[in-house]
Amino acid sequence: MARHGLDAVLTRVAGIVGSPHVVVDPEVTRPYTVDWTGRFHGTTPAVIRPGSVEELAEVVRVCAEARVAIVPQGGNTGLVGGGVPLEGELVLSTRRLTALGEVDEIAGQVTAGAGVAISALQERARAAGLEYPVDLAARDSATVGGTIATNAGGLHVIRWGGTRAQLRGIEAVLADGSVVRHLGGLPKDNTGLDLAGLLCGSEGTLGVVTAARLALVPRLPERVVTLVGFEDLRAAVAVVARVRRGLSCLNAAEVFFADGLALVCEVEGLREPFGRSWPVYVLLEASDHDDPTERMSSALAAAGVTGDVAVGTDARTRAELWAYRERHTSAINTLGPPHKLDLSLPLPMLPDFIARLPEVVARHAPSARTWLFGHIGDGNLHVNITGTAPDDEEVDDIIFRMVASCGGSISAEHGIGTAKKRWLHLNRSAAEVRAFRRIKRALDPVGILNPNVLLPPE
Ligand SMILES: Cc1cc2nc3c(=O)[nH]c(=O)nc-3n(C[C@H](O)[C@H](O)[C@H](O)COP(=O)(O)OP(=O)(O)OC[C@H]3O[C@@H](n4cnc5c(N)ncnc54)[C@H](O)[C@@H]3O)c2cc1C
Repeated sequence: MARHGLDAVLTRVAGIVGSPHVVVDPEVTRPYTVDWTGRFHGTTPAVIRPGSVEELAEVVRVCAEARVAIVPQGGNTGLVGGGVPLEGELVLSTRRLTALGEVDEIAGQVTAGAGVAISALQERARAAGLEYPVDLAARDSATVGGTIATNAGGLHVIRWGGTRAQLRGIEAVLADGSVVRHLGGLPKDNTGLDLAGLLCGSEGTLGVVTAARLALVPRLPERVVTLVGFEDLRAAVAVVARVRRGLSCLNAAEVFFADGLALVCEVEGLREPFGRSWPVYVLLEASDHDDPTERMSSALAAAGVTGDVAVGTDARTRAELWAYRERHTSAINTLGPPHKLDLSLPLPMLPDFIARLPEVVARHAPSARTWLFGHIGDGNLHVNITGTAPDDEEVDDIIFRMVASCGGSISAEHGIGTAKKRWLHLNRSAAEVRAFRRIKRALDPVGILNPNVLLPPE
């Protein structure tokens, strides 16, 4: 669009949200144009920060009329380059939509604005004796809207499911500026299409989420975290499967490896957890109304664990054990922008896949390093590759093809964004992608909502 046309749009938008909330100074807009990893960056003429759903709807209407593309953005913690303006789009920030309702203790639900941080939502739930079960290391910045747009998974999927499983209703602005609102939260409500489910995971391409009705789960105050060292991954996978069968209060089963732990300890100045290094580490967390520590240790013994075990029963030691796992993402980022391949594999295939990976990477990118960690309970492996250029996608291509040939997914929980749209066909048939396109065209005929993510060019 010509600059004078864009200026006219921004003048109209400033009339809606107020000039201080149309940010054009490149120094101030810069953090909105670079993703969390530093791998994806672009430019934007302006960051627009509406303060209400009405303002946001007006802004979208003006942009639709002028055919100006928008990238919705929440906390900007996404890891697939989906929330930054790579093609000069306007950024529509939801960070001012922070209304957070009182917890409905009878229904076990709460209504939260799109810009509410996940940690704020968790705190509000806890104060009412409940818990918002979606949890992730980016909890202080990731927002309700962003986690819905990406259908974020996180640490507790094995027990409570991901974001879609908590969604009881949604409010969103569609590409023509109309507002859809269905926030009653009825657990049973078969009155037509599930728009909340459709928008969840649509990565800002079908509508801008402005609020959501979310289910909460009981707060289980007694908690134990256990870190176990293993000689090999096959043994770790077998133990996790047995512990899951024997311990119904298991919340999380996470995995990391000796080299990742060493990096985390070096970057964060932490001491290694055991007197010796183990090739594989599994972190397990359980919570219940009564202390699950005994049940956890019986389940581990019954599963045949013989390696080192560290147990955290108080808040400090639990946090110390979690730090070994949670700080992987930030520690790896200190080595330069990584390629982040968030994969999902059938669990029985995980050990062989990981065993083959270093050789495959070394063959195609000798200078690259591979870092692995993830949510082993879900078969969700985060493969991080450092030491290759941000735009060198050869290794990504080989690994994605490998994962698809094993019946796995190229995106377990981060979404497709811009990073993976080239490979969507590996997991989705031509008929499915055609259906995606028809839905996109029906809801966003002009193509203004995050037009450069999810769907590859036709
Ligand atoms: C340290 C770290 C740990 C992480 N751990 C996990 C994890 O365990 N599990 C997991 O799933 N992810 C994880 N992530 C990735 C990230 O936190 C999630 O993808 C999260 O859901 C993004 O939320 P956000 O508010 O930051 O969204 P953004 O990064 O701002 O946006 C992400 C996508 O959603 C769209 N979007 C944002 N807000 C809206 C809205 N209101 N309406 C419509 N579209 C919108 C954007 O356009 C973009 O496509 C992690 C990230 C980091 C940095």
